[in-house]
This record gives sequence, C-alpha cells and structure tokens, in this order.
Amino acid sequence: MADYIYSMESRLTPDQQRGVNLVQEIARHAGLNLYLTGGTIRDLITGLPIRDIDLSVQGNPLKLQKELEKAGISVQGVDEDLRTLHLLMPGNVRAEVNLTRSETYDKPGKAPSIAPATINEDLRRRDFTVNAMALSLNPGSRGLLLDPFNGIADIEAKVLRVLHNYAFLEDPIRLIRATRLSARFHWPLEERTQARYDSAKENNYIEYVGKRSIGAELEQLAHEDDPIGVMRALEKDDWLKVLHPHWSVAKAEASDVGHAIKLRQTLTDLGYSVESGPMVMYFLTRKMSDKDVSEIQRMIPRRDFVEKWKHLEHDAQALAKKLTGKEAATNSGSWKLLSATAAESILFLSLTTKQGAVDAKLKNFLGKWRQVREKLPFPEMAEMRITAQLPEYQHILDQAFLQLLDNKLRSHNEIVNFLKPFEPPPPPPPPPPKRGRGKAAAAAEPVASAPVVAATPPAKRGRKPKGAASAPPDAVTVAPTAQPIGKPIAGGKAPVPPKTATVAAKTAPAKAEKKLVQPAKKTVAVKKPVVTKKASPKKKPPARKALAKKLVAKKPAPKKPAAKKAAKKKR
Ligand code: ATP
Ligand code: MG
Repeated sequence: MADYIYSMESRLTPDQQRGVNLVQEIARHAGLNLYLTGGTIRDLITGLPIRDIDLSVQGNPLKLQKELEKAGISVQGVDEDLRTLHLLMPGNVRAEVNLTRSETYDKPGKAPSIAPATINEDLRRRDFTVNAMALSLNPGSRGLLLDPFNGIADIEAKVLRVLHNYAFLEDPIRLIRATRLSARFHWPLEERTQARYDSAKENNYIEYVGKRSIGAELEQLAHEDDPIGVMRALEKDDWLKVLHPHWSVAKAEASDVGHAIKLRQTLTDLGYSVESGPMVMYFLTRKMSDKDVSEIQRMIPRRDFVEKWKHLEHDAQALAKKLTGKEAATNSGSWKLLSATAAESILFLSLTTKQGAVDAKLKNFLGKWRQVREKLPFPEMAEMRITAQLPEYQHILDQAFLQLLDNKLRSHNEIVNFLKPFEPPPPPPPPPPKRGRGKAAAAAEPVASAPVVAATPPAKRGRKPKGAASAPPDAVTVAPTAQPIGKPIAGGKAPVPPKTATVAAKTAPAKAEKKLVQPAKKTVAVKKPVVTKKASPKKKPPARKALAKKLVAKKPAPKKPAAKKAAKKKR
C-alpha cells in the first residue's frame, strides 16, 4: 500500500512541510479535521513540483486566522463567502485553506449556494478527477487517501477528466483551467471531457464566468513555470481575451519572463526564497496600457500580490540609487547593502537596469564576490583554533570576507596576519601522568583535554606478554582537518563550519568524545585504563602483581560453582 505521508514528507520542500505542520497543529488544537487536497495531492503523486499547498478543514477556517498569524503566517486574503483563507507561509509558500463544502448550482452564471459539508461531499464539487483527492492529516486516519473518482488512474493515464457532464456549464472557469492544466502537464482532455469542452465552447458558456474566478485565474498564470507557453495555449483557445479583452501574447515581454524565471532559480540555489509571481505578471502585461494593467490589478483577489507588483519599479529605482551612492562606494558596502535587500528587488533590478555600474554590482553580488570566501585559509584557521566553536567565529569570517572583497588582504600572509589577533589562547596542557593507584585511576578517567588519543584494545584478562607493562600502547594520531567552506551563503548567513576530526580512546566513556574539540599539535598517548575493585584482590593493578598472585593462590574456591556441583551430585 502506498505510504502517502512518506510521499508528502519527502516531496514537500522543508518550508512547505513546516507550513503544513503549523496549520496541522493549529487545526488540531481547534479540534478541526484537516486534509491536504487539490493540486497538492495531484502533484505529490505525479512527482511534479508542488507549487502551492491546498488544505481543507471540516469547519470554519476563518476561526484559525488569529492563530495562524500568531504562528508567523501572513493571511493575504479572506474570502468570507467561500470561507477560504489565502496564506503566505514562511519561505514564500503560498497556501489556501478552504472550508469543506458542498455547492449547488441553481442557474448557470450564478454563484452556487454553498453549505458546510464532509470531505467526501467536498471532493464532489471539484473540477477534475486528478484534483478530487484528499489526504487525511488527522490523528485517527492520518495517511488515508480519499479518491472517490479514481483520480490515481487518470494520473497514470495522464488525462484530465471532469467529474460529471455539467462541470463546464456549472462553472465555466473550468474551461480555462482545463486549457491551462492541459498546457502545463501536456495531458490531453479525456475523450468525453473533450466533447463536453467543445460543446461548452460552442454554446459560449464562458459568458457566465464569474469575476472572482477570472481574478484567481489571472494570478495563477503568474505562478506557472512556463507562463508564456500557457498564455499561448489560452490565446489559441480564445480564453486570454476572457481574462482581459486587450491581452495577448504580443503584449508580454516574453524574453524578460524567461530571464526572470532563470534568475529566480539562481537565487533559489543561493538559498533565497523568492516570490516571483508579481514580477512575472509585470512582464506578462508589460506592453499593455496603464489603464488595462490597473484593471487587471483590480481583479486579482490577493491584495498583497498586487501591492508587490505595483511597488516593483519604485523599489528597484530606490535600490539603484543606493547602489550608485556613498553607501555602496566600496565592494563591501555594496555587499552589505544587497545582503539586506529583498531578493525580489535584486531580481527585478537585475532584469531591468540600464546602468552598467549597477548591473556589474548585481552580477558580482550573485557570482564573483561569493567565491572570495574560498580564499580564507581554513586549514590554518583550524590550527589557530579559529573554528566554529568560537562564539565570534561568524563575525571573524565576515570581517575577513569584507576585507577580501575590498582587496585589502592581497596575499595569504596578509590574511593570516589579519586573523592572528582573533586566535584564542591555547588550551591548558594535559595533567601530568600520575603514579601508582592515581595513575590507574587517571587512565580510567575520560580524557577531556587530550586532542589526540590512543586507540587501545580493551584490556584482556590473563598473563601479559613480557614487557607489556612498560611498553606504551600504540597511539593513533588523527590530525585535525578543516574543510574550506563550500558554497558561500547569501546575506552573510553562516557558512558550513569546518569540521575538527577527533578520535576518542576506545576505552574512554562516550562523554569524553564531546569534549575533544580543540585541534591538536602533539600526540598524547593514553595508558590502558585498568578497572580496579577494592574488594577483589584478583583485579589489583599490575604493580602489585606478585602480591596479587599470592592472594589468588590462598583464596578459597569460589562458593557458587561449588554449591552448584553439590546440587548436581544430589540429583
Ligand atoms: P495549481 O495550484 O498547481 O495551479 P490546483 O489544481 O491546485 O493547481 P488551485 O487553484 O490551487 O489549483 O485549486 C485547488 C483545488 O481547488 C483544485 O485542485 C480543485 O480541486 C479545486 N478547484 C479550483 N478551482 C475549481 C473550480 N473552478 N471548480 C472546481 N474545483 C476547483
Ligand atoms: Mg493548488
């Protein structure tokens, strides 16, 4: 049986997973049943990227709003009629939480009457079979997949199938969704669905489409991975002019859209989370009149999305001004400025600036400057004990990096000299070896300060080979290794700390391993620990070997085996 929870946990990005966990916790606390639904399940099963998170609760999601906001989730839109929350979760994860509802269509073109319903009824009001599945996230049934229309079979067959014959009549936006999803996945409409689609088109059902649905579709286009490709499909089927009468592929700045999507990937690879939708929409409508653009903006329900779109040009101008000003006169100044700038502004300015100097700084910020960190001499730094264990380690790295950016540290020596004042004092020397009993006890103690320790086989019972008492145990020296930081992380975030390798004595308790943090220069051999028991003369330390032998000889036979023998005889 398929394990959908495993699929969910492995397919969602960490940010998406965290977002789902947050909503899950909040819904559970409020006593509401929660399901993962719609396109999220479809994409989970197909293995395609999961673009947004669709969740449904059996109960009113608006009740969760305050708790969601407290948890750091931004509620970007509230649809009071449908009782739907549009969310932006940390890491720019878009999500929607719906009320599980039933829909009754009295007349085409009229909004349906809706009523709270069970999840099973909710799945019946969906558009396509592949979108009509739900995964329970509730304690009692967690992991159970509800698939009443056999959406899995249609995913395998790669077709889009409506749930019933009236699907396009009841909600004509499904015609546009059919074209958009078909263009995205390259999945055809199933035969009967295609026939219904053609007839709906012929009968002009689209004239009954609701404004709210158009607004939502407009925004969806901006989140497509290939928006121009989808736009072409919509234009071919005459849907683009339904979204806006003056819109066409020719009104989009197609090459900029392509560049925006590529550069978004670069930024994502550098560790940024970028909300590129508003920018994509900017380029998709680039050649439309201001009036047409404002009309489109008014139709989109997510106000936050529209605000970001509106502010793109202004924010980019402000950034360009700063990049050509005093603050960014040096490389380090530019680095600090850009590190504190929203990724969306960096992306947008990179695509639109006509100023060579600004362009060069943006390119360096995203490329060349990041490699400068690799000049830091991590092996020497480890020897100087400048490692991630120091609380000020990140600060030291940043300072050195900024100096390197400004070309103030030109040679290896200059870098090392710069780092020297940060070198912490050496660790205290290991305690001197103790004699006799103390010596044995010391050997048994965890070796906290010794950086390099001996790998000693566990003490064996019985006679020792000649000279064993005086010969030091073999010492295995492991030099501390320090690895250079791989990929520099955007915004001065902490890079991967170099690792310090240590090997703990096999006989030393586990706790000692944790303490072995300082890099070592010298080899310290650790004596075999000898476990002693006061009461047992058998286990006297080797220094008293002779006496111990005598005592063993005099010692009466152990009681237990004797008693056992007697018992055996009786039997
Ligand atoms: P994606 O988010 O990847 O574009 P999606 O199918 O998830 O695709 P959403 O707009 O997020 O699209 O919608 C979520 C779900 O809501 C859909 O999968 C579908 O089940 C349902 N849905 C959306 N629009 C309609 C509609 N017009 N009629 C019926 N169900 C719909
Ligand atoms: Mg979705």
